[in-house]
Amino acid sequence: MLTHKSNTFFLLAVLFLLFILSSHIEIKWYHFVLAFLFWLLIAIAGSGLIRMNYHLKARSRSFTSERKIAITFDDGPTLITPEVLDVLQKNNIKATFFCIGQQIEKYPEIFDRIIAEGHIIGNHSFTHSKKIGLFTKKQMIEEITSADISIAKFLGKKPRYYRPPFGVTNPHIAKALRFTKHYVIGWNVRSLDTKIKSEERILKRIKSGISPGSIVLLHDTSLKSVRVLEQLLVFLQENNYEAVTVEQLLKIPAYEN
Ligand SMILES: [Zn+2]
Repeated sequence: MLTHKSNTFFLLAVLFLLFILSSHIEIKWYHFVLAFLFWLLIAIAGSGLIRMNYHLKARSRSFTSERKIAITFDDGPTLITPEVLDVLQKNNIKATFFCIGQQIEKYPEIFDRIIAEGHIIGNHSFTHSKKIGLFTKKQMIEEITSADISIAKFLGKKPRYYRPPFGVTNPHIAKALRFTKHYVIGWNVRSLDTKIKSEERILKRIKSGISPGSIVLLHDTSLKSVRVLEQLLVFLQENNYEAVTVEQLLKIPAYEN
């Protein structure tokens, strides 16, 4: 597997080789630059694509042949969350919510309802700052533990799942998570429901991405996503898929004892 360590080791090996070769054949300065750019390209892809497991091991799906998938919602609780909960309740489906600490403090009753209705809660940082990729290890630990505390206040126990905001990882985030000992939960079906305007296009993306063991990423932040959820549940039923929680799908504990 291509990790940050092996990529960097490969770069150093290539640079060293170029240096040795330069005394025998003509090596141009841009050969060194090219090697570095290649390293940078992989590092950028690995930091943005959680499925690459570049900086850390994320669980982005289950390798099962059973027709089970997990629906996950990020960035709540919000005023939209009750709408999502209504749809889930009507269909008797349990989902997994990766919640932001600040949002829990803002909408404690809504957060309480997610718990009361039997859904699974995961940590999605305290502030969900756009600058989270620039945080130090210490700041990251603070982000993660503060959100744990907000969750535990209502749930009575700490979550063991963490989902990185924007799916961004880097060495600081990896170190912080080794310290806090969370399981990192990714996804293999990204709906892009916060970016794509058309419900049909979002739904098409999800439908073509789903296979047994998939983890689907949605957001409980817009009514558009609620409508997508309604149609997704129809699709799942028609195709004999069962929607379960991440805990049921991956069979790893969601909470500390
Ligand atoms: Zn998010």
